[in-house]
Amino acid sequence: MAGLHYGSVANPSKRMALHKRLGIKGPRAKYIPSMDNRHRQQVISLRRLSSRKAIYVFSKKNKPAYLVSEGERVIVETKDAFGGSVRSEKDLFEHVSMDKVNPATGPIMVESVFRGDTLCVEIERIRCGRRGVVMCSPELGTLGTDVRRSRTKVVRIVGRKAIFSEDLAVDLNPHIGVVGVSPARGEYPTYHPGDFGGNMDTVEITERSRVYLPAFVDGGMVAMGDVHAAMGDGEVCGTGVEVPAEVQVRFFKEGELAVKRPMIETPTNWISYAAAKTLDEAARLATSDLVRFISERRGVDFEDAYMLASVAANLGISQVVDPLVAAKMSISKRYL
Ligand code: CA
Repeated sequence: MAGLHYGSVANPSKRMALHKRLGIKGPRAKYIPSMDNRHRQQVISLRRLSSRKAIYVFSKKNKPAYLVSEGERVIVETKDAFGGSVRSEKDLFEHVSMDKVNPATGPIMVESVFRGDTLCVEIERIRCGRRGVVMCSPELGTLGTDVRRSRTKVVRIVGRKAIFSEDLAVDLNPHIGVVGVSPARGEYPTYHPGDFGGNMDTVEITERSRVYLPAFVDGGMVAMGDVHAAMGDGEVCGTGVEVPAEVQVRFFKEGELAVKRPMIETPTNWISYAAAKTLDEAARLATSDLVRFISERRGVDFEDAYMLASVAANLGISQVVDPLVAAKMSISKRYL
């Protein structure tokens, strides 16, 4: 953002002026129905970042919509992957405009994060809307050519289940499909994954996880959306259970970990992630990143880390349906 000096933002009056310019009204009290008492008091005082400010393209040219302090706890409101435009089972994929897919709330500029830093997005809570959408289409997914006619399924979310059909409820695994920063160069639609994150579609990007992203610009300029109430590895038909959501997050600068591509930390595991044109290449990159990480954490040479990865880490698929496909490799923290 041109003309913004971090030193001046630390000054409260200038910070307020910047918030005003960005249209940020500051903390607002808001009653959240159906929220349990344990969380209600906390949520009331949190700043909410509205989904009205959203991007459809990750670009270095993006200007900040929100400014947050390092460690500040905020609630990011996200629209579903179709921006709420799919209202019934008559709304099919061919009616969806691709330039309005995956609205990502933001960009969120994080104070104290500069170009070259590693930005950490800590996900504390994901609260899904009560209605989700699943679609298949001849234009979509691994077996698109086998699909005879597009179909849309509207799915109710009840408790920790998605009601897939009258006789089948699917367990939820809520996660954030799109989380990314402004890329170093180029412009990428928010349905595109890459080294900047973006459409990661990785089920481990969930409550109690942290996503580490390379900051290519000052402030990182994070945007997120495309929450899935449920999805399996691969996302084979091209959608998960696409829901609007409220995501409680904090942002940090991570001083100890330098990343070229996203990495994910769960309470139990470290996971590398790579998107590429082919699964072979994505697998090679994800493996290479995790082996290097193991080598650094354990203080062992490449060969030793490579062998440990082979015997103790799991290589998997995030998704095979986006413009680039993505692989991931996971190792238990017990071995590091
Ligand atoms: Ca997605």
